[in-house]
Amino acid sequence: MNILKNITKEIISFPCLNCRNEIAEDNGLCNNCFGELPFVHPPLCNTCGAENDGIFDLCEKCLKEDKRLWQQGISLMRLEGVGQQLVHRLKYGNETALARTLGKIAAEKVKTSAIQIDCIVPIPLHWTRRLTRGYNQTALLAQVISEELKIPLKKLIKRTRYTPKQAKLGRKQRLKNLDGAFAVRNLKNCENSKILLIDDVMTTGTTLSVATKTLLNGGAKTVNVLAVLRA
Ligand SMILES: [Zn+2]
Ligand SMILES: [Zn+2]
Repeated sequence: MNILKNITKEIISFPCLNCRNEIAEDNGLCNNCFGELPFVHPPLCNTCGAENDGIFDLCEKCLKEDKRLWQQGISLMRLEGVGQQLVHRLKYGNETALARTLGKIAAEKVKTSAIQIDCIVPIPLHWTRRLTRGYNQTALLAQVISEELKIPLKKLIKRTRYTPKQAKLGRKQRLKNLDGAFAVRNLKNCENSKILLIDDVMTTGTTLSVATKTLLNGGAKTVNVLAVLRA
């Protein structure tokens, strides 16, 4: 009887993806770890959805950049703590199950927003990076968001060339680095579409800006962006 009890318990319990404590439902995270996620709280930047001090409509980072071409930006969490660790493990640790947990959180946030979208588009990785990593973490997130919202996933853009990492570049160098880095795969699919563009981390927003411009030039009607983490 005890053996049976143990087996049943094993089948119906799942480890929390953060602390490994058992949770009853396969939600990914236990209540404690979920509570530690660094969700952004208002006032939020009108443009990128980051936490803002409320003096201007735009956050300090958006004020420094060219006017964003996307309509609305949604950021889920600050780039710190448990949120940062989970995205890091999804990105570099081969822990693709985390895409489900984070993607579900993202989908819930989109549901509470007023944005109008008819397709979900991930920021692509260059194929050489996808090859070494084995997957594109952003495409996995976009896939889950698409399933949760029942809105089709469309891989509308591709990387046309390999670009060095952006992190340490200045604003002008970043723009130059990414100039022409994306191209629309299929103009017919892009035309008139209302897009939600997904990235895992928004640092300066240059990648999302350049990708947005590519999609609008390709005939997209509107582009909204969502990042799991906002630096
Ligand atoms: Zn936990
Ligand atoms: Zn902002």
